[in-house]
Amino acid sequence: MRLLLALTVHLPALVAGWLFVLIFYGWATQDLKLGKLMDEPLMLTSTWRNWVVKRRGKSGWRFWKYTTTIGRGWIKQPGRDSDVRLKRHEETHVRQGADLSFLALVLGAVTIYFTGDWKLGIALWCTGWAWQLPNFVTAAMRYGLSNGYRYSGHEVEAYALTNIIVPADAGMSWAQIFEERREEARAKTS
Ligand SMILES: [Zn+2]
Repeated sequence: MRLLLALTVHLPALVAGWLFVLIFYGWATQDLKLGKLMDEPLMLTSTWRNWVVKRRGKSGWRFWKYTTTIGRGWIKQPGRDSDVRLKRHEETHVRQGADLSFLALVLGAVTIYFTGDWKLGIALWCTGWAWQLPNFVTAAMRYGLSNGYRYSGHEVEAYALTNIIVPADAGMSWAQIFEERREEARAKTS
């Protein structure tokens, strides 16, 4: 069923994700592979080259240091091949995109039915996998610009599913731990 989902509902994300990986392959990434990301099939992946992720200068800035998933393509940090938590985190984003793609497909079909506008209907379907991007905006409006990434709905779900709760935090929900860290950070900066 996952294969069927990847080849139908989630097809625009497959095309976009594979293009994303292929554009960077060779000059910024290496080790191209097609396969499964945990349970998700047809995932194209590669690994950032060292020059992309290595620290530079006194400030230690880097071009890009993140594992990045776009649709059914993902580029990982070097040395994280066996990191199951990372894979489960990225797999969560693939699933979220597929959920949105289904909604987008229904909305696109309804649009075509009522307006006859094929272009608009197909455009709605093709962009659906990316509809989680506005989450960054609303999270930043709620929690401040620097929290826009961490508190976006899709990231909260991915972190909540994969982060380890250390013994000192045992008995607390992930949201409580997160809230506590936020209070600590606030206390430090104020
Ligand atoms: Zn994430």
